[in-house]
Amino acid sequence: MSPRSFPVRSVSTAFLALAVLLPVVPAAAAADLAVAEATARARQRFSLGIAGGRAFEYFAGGGHPSWDGYLRSLRPPPVSADRRARSLTMVRKEDVVELSRERRAKLDALQPVLAYLEREGVIAVKVLRPPLRVAFAGFLEGAAVVLSPDALDLLTPPELQAVFAHELAHEYFAGEYTAARAKEDYDTVREIELRCDAVAIVTMSRLGLDRGALLSGAAKVITFNERHGHPNRRDLSPAWDERRNFGRAMADLTR
Ligand SMILES: [Zn+2]
Repeated sequence: MSPRSFPVRSVSTAFLALAVLLPVVPAAAAADLAVAEATARARQRFSLGIAGGRAFEYFAGGGHPSWDGYLRSLRPPPVSADRRARSLTMVRKEDVVELSRERRAKLDALQPVLAYLEREGVIAVKVLRPPLRVAFAGFLEGAAVVLSPDALDLLTPPELQAVFAHELAHEYFAGEYTAARAKEDYDTVREIELRCDAVAIVTMSRLGLDRGALLSGAAKVITFNERHGHPNRRDLSPAWDERRNFGRAMADLTR
């Protein structure tokens, strides 16, 4: 070995050893592995069930470093003005509640959520009188979030914001939801409900609002409806423990 060749050969031998020691993991596979590990940890730490674990996995890899970009990637383009107009024909004029100044002021709290989720001027908010006493919020096909007066009165402004964000998120998963209902795949239906919870928690977090408001709002709605004889459907809604545990896991993920 000549004095000059020694360092060169040592370096290449060292490099070869490194290359052998470090397994070659493609970036995408490494990311999948990180998501699987984060999900396994969350499953255990927060006692997530099937729907909760799957919904967590959906967000565990997507969020960082940009939750804003991830939500944008899930968001479908707004439906056309024609289609929105057609959807709004489902709202009967006689069911629309005239709002007092106090109630209108409460709805103003929804503006930052509409803006963050890029649905300003697209999604209307309608307060509709249902035939029964029920605290209700729902999404009307790309056109509106509908609320019952009881939901509006029962919830605090932050709870209303979180529930509203959950409803807006239903648009992201509408096709999958319809398919899962048609197939009676209720694990997926409940998973999608939790994904909507996740969008709500991310939204509240990004806006610097109360991330716990979703769970406190949901608890109030469930209690109110049970008291009025409308328990949650267990096939379509995650069990309360699952929802709470998932909410805690998402709050932790969005710290
Ligand atoms: Zn929902």
